[in-house]
Amino acid sequence: MGGTFDPIHHGHLVAASEVQAWFDLDEVVFVPTGRPWQKLDRPGGEVSQAEHRYLMTVVATAANPRFQVSRVDIDREGPTYTIDTLQDLAAQHPDADLFFITGADALAEIFSWRDAGRLFELAHFVGCTRPGADLPATTVEAIPHDRVTLLEVPALAISSTDCRERQRTGRPVWYLVPDGVVQYIHKHRLYTEAPS
Ligand code: ATP
Ligand code: MG
Repeated sequence: MGGTFDPIHHGHLVAASEVQAWFDLDEVVFVPTGRPWQKLDRPGGEVSQAEHRYLMTVVATAANPRFQVSRVDIDREGPTYTIDTLQDLAAQHPDADLFFITGADALAEIFSWRDAGRLFELAHFVGCTRPGADLPATTVEAIPHDRVTLLEVPALAISSTDCRERQRTGRPVWYLVPDGVVQYIHKHRLYTEAPS
């Protein structure tokens, strides 16, 4: 499961858990992006330091024996492309069947991703439902149905954008993100006006 995870929240964790159970996956590998190419020009500047996003993902997933976190994207130079993520994971796990977990909003953009056609050769894609993100009919028609599964997961209207905005304006993020992530955000003063 790739993501910016800035910060990781319960929407990510529920989607990952549902897909793990549905396909009986051995493990779910969370892969925080390095520099996500779609977010290079995000208003308000850069995404948080990769190391903070990586560590929050570790904190959030540590208790689940089937959840792992990979550094492949944050350790690779340059912008992150999913084709590189999948190639690196395939090289590390040559015998694995790879699944790539996304939310419906990310899946809707998939045809703009680099080497979109090859992505479906490297992994089976799982598009999880997400409140406010309906898949356009054109996307549903265009996806190769033997390589993509659309899965309904419990709806959690949580986004990292909203969590950052809440933190910036002094509203709670408790229960939207795991407790350890709330504490990590406070400890490192993330998402305040002057980013650390
Ligand atoms: P941002 O608002 O910064 O874009 P985000 O909440 O969308 O953050 P990402 O790190 O961009 O989080 O998402 C990683 C992956 O998790 C994407 O495929 C996204 O669609 C999916 N995802 C995020 N939130 C949810 C959610 N609440 N339900 C289902 N899928 C989600
Ligand atoms: Mg997003």
